[in-house]
Formats: sequence, structure tokens, C-alpha cells
Amino acid sequence: MQSSNPKSASGQDLRSAGIAGGAATTLEGEITGERPLKPAMLRGWRCRCPACGAGPLFLGYLKVRDHCPVCNEALYHQRADDGPAYVTILIVGHIIGPLMLALYAKWTPDPLITAALLSVASVALSLFFLPRIKGAFIGLQWSRRMHGFGGNERG
Ligand SMILES: [Zn+2]
Repeated sequence: MQSSNPKSASGQDLRSAGIAGGAATTLEGEITGERPLKPAMLRGWRCRCPACGAGPLFLGYLKVRDHCPVCNEALYHQRADDGPAYVTILIVGHIIGPLMLALYAKWTPDPLITAALLSVASVALSLFFLPRIKGAFIGLQWSRRMHGFGGNERG
């Protein structure tokens, strides 16, 4: 009888530990649960940490922080590499190309003026899109648990 009491007590301890684990569902959920793709990519697009959406993702223009200053999520797992550059070129090219055709079809401007205008527009658009697309890439990688974002057992 006396042994049943400590057992139940230990059982309660286990349950409370389980409840404590359940209460830490945010933490447990972060580790084992779902990481929705769209919010993670949108947070990355806003150059925010894909996990909390509050901490800044970059140190400077494109340098990714090792850890989020708000939630301490490890961000150094990211391997965006030159993927964002490809997508940026794809998008900017699809904006500038038709714009060039439309400019010539409508006004037939001087080629030098067109080249100058569209070069400046290309650079400006690229500078705008590149960090956002890189952030979205990192959000995708974090959400899909790629490159060590999933936990300690995956490299
Ligand atoms: Zn964070």
C-alpha cells in the first residue's frame, strides 16, 4: 500500500512532467510539429526570422545572422547560395524585358536613354528583390527542415 502511494506519486510526477511537456507545446511543437510553408516564406520575404517573425534575419544587406536575436533560432543552417540570385534575375528579366518592348512600341526613345533608364531600373529592382527572395528561400528551408534546420540529428 505504501509502495502504491510513491508509485502514484511518481506517476503523477510523470503526468505533471507530461503536462509540463504539453504546456511546452510551443517548444515541443517547434521541434517536432508543423512548420507551415507560407508564413515562414512570408516572414523571410519581410527579412524576418522564419520561426518568430520578429527578429531581423540579416546583419547587413544580405549577411544572415547566426541566430535570431529574439527567439534564438539557429539560422546558420541556411544554404540559400545563389538560388535567390537566379530567381531575382528571372523576375527582373521578366519585368524589364516586356517594359523594353513596351517603351519602344509606344515612344521609340533614344537607345542610350533606354539603356540608361532600364539599367538603373534593373539594378534597383534587383537590389529590392534579392534580400526578400533570399529571406523567402531561408523560410522555405526552415519550413521544410532542410540543411540541419530540422534538429540535431540531421546534418
Ligand atoms: Zn526568431
